[in-house]
Amino acid sequence: MYRVRLFAIRHSRSFEWLYRRLEAFMIACDPLFGRIGYDRVEPFVAVVERVTKGLLFDCRMCGQCALSSTGMSCPMNCPKQLRNGPCGGVRPGGYCEVIPEMRCVWTLAWQGASRMRDGDRIRNVLPPVDRSLQGSSSWLRVSREKAAALRESREAGRTVIAQAFPKARANEPATAPLADEPARAKTAGSRR
Ligand code: SF4
Repeated sequence: MYRVRLFAIRHSRSFEWLYRRLEAFMIACDPLFGRIGYDRVEPFVAVVERVTKGLLFDCRMCGQCALSSTGMSCPMNCPKQLRNGPCGGVRPGGYCEVIPEMRCVWTLAWQGASRMRDGDRIRNVLPPVDRSLQGSSSWLRVSREKAAALRESREAGRTVIAQAFPKARANEPATAPLADEPARAKTAGSRR
């Protein structure tokens, strides 16, 4: 599917947009996935991810998808599996040292990244491949982590507001009763 891979890199901006939508959808599904159980959802999502990304990007299911940072050119297709730029053997015309009929994954990555909105992400250093994640769903892991971070930041925001009530009452009692006081604020107030 080499031609499809090249097509995806040529249309990296569209795929970047699609990836954003997919990520937002997966994050929105977090409560549902949590109820079903992420372990139960994982095999299903992994199959969908394997088939879709296999067709489009020749994905190897490393479990640490870097496509959004590599211009939609999968670095696992590099025969040396380099994750941070090309080796020193790139042939004239941008062809691979090991597979001369294939374009170097990293020359394609730079071309793909140049078309993307967040193309500068290609400059970020990627961690080495964690082989223990091989075969797992990158989509699910990333969206789960982002959903958890969102929950935490919302929770932190609520705590800040809750803690503001006792302070407001102490400064100016007339201001605090304008809104319902969260139970947490009452507890915080009684501890003082
Ligand atoms: S030329 Fe590019 S694709 Fe080929 S081995 Fe080197 S970095 Fe990997």
